[in-house]
Amino acid sequence: MTHLQKFQQKLQEGQAALISSSQNRFYLSGFQYDDGYLLIFRARAVLLTDFRYEEAAEQHADPAFEILCPKRGMLDAVRELLLGEGISELLIEEESVTVALRESLAQKLDDVTVHKGASACLTALRAFKDEGELAAMAEAQRITDAAFTHILGYLKPGVREIDVALELEFFMRRSGAAGIAFHTIAVSGTASSLPHGVPRSCTLEKGFLTMDFGARVGGYCADMTRTVVIGRADAEMKHLYSTVLRAQRAALDRAAQGVSCRALDLVARDIIDGAGYEGRFGHSLGHGVGIDVHEAPRLSRSAPESAVLLPGHVVTVEPGIYLAGKYGCRIEDMIAVNPDGSIRNFTKSDKDLIEI
Ligand code: ZN
Ligand code: ZN
Repeated sequence: MTHLQKFQQKLQEGQAALISSSQNRFYLSGFQYDDGYLLIFRARAVLLTDFRYEEAAEQHADPAFEILCPKRGMLDAVRELLLGEGISELLIEEESVTVALRESLAQKLDDVTVHKGASACLTALRAFKDEGELAAMAEAQRITDAAFTHILGYLKPGVREIDVALELEFFMRRSGAAGIAFHTIAVSGTASSLPHGVPRSCTLEKGFLTMDFGARVGGYCADMTRTVVIGRADAEMKHLYSTVLRAQRAALDRAAQGVSCRALDLVARDIIDGAGYEGRFGHSLGHGVGIDVHEAPRLSRSAPESAVLLPGHVVTVEPGIYLAGKYGCRIEDMIAVNPDGSIRNFTKSDKDLIEI
């Protein structure tokens, strides 16, 4: 079943959905464009755009879509389509619709009831990846792994953090990535205690170097973190690194269909807390990945007990320990739950402590 068909099944009689976010427009139509809407009915789908995207939409969008380039305003066309289909309820994306669009809809569509609900529905659908999506993510991670191998040969004293980030990004683009999945993190020394630190223009400090990066292929993200040591690791750094690795491996071993997202977070957290680092693993164990680098489901201690891993989920497993003002370390792999309930780890890069 196509993404469009899965979504259409969720619509009730008399309902349509207006899709305005670029991520959900891409998810449903398979076509990436910067301007316009999708209008989805139970048995009809219209892609509204303008002349700039018309030809490409004909070529790349799911052929189930009618392509429409309205001569007048987009929302006037939406109104006509809704009236023509006798629609009384329009679902919108509650997570992304702007106040301005909401007000325009209220003006133009005074005879249609506008409801939230499309975001929640699409978030739930997007959490389960099909074969095509898994293939794109596997390729994105393959390029990401290759970039890590490449950067190990590039790292040397005198290189700046921004050079490391740029080199990773250049390598991934040259290797076939359409782009990067998110802003590359490459932080060394004391800055490695910042989980989402920004690469600086200073040369690499001795100590931990945390690199969190990913390629984007076919619209889908990869997400990996590796921490290496510039210089030699002392006993305390080795203890910290091996604790993070032990926590990550325990969580990976435990991951399987039916395991609660909360329990998985606690597997890693208990190991880190038990090794004397209580309170230093300040983020969640992991997150879903897909068109967005952060999506459902979340592997978090605040996840409801009912949230469990299921076939088709793709999540990261990324414990870390951060000692403010000193240093930090994170190790992140991206895994999928297979149809038989077992785990596939997309990430192949080495995790033993590397000293450079
Ligand atoms: Zn990451
Ligand atoms: Zn991540």
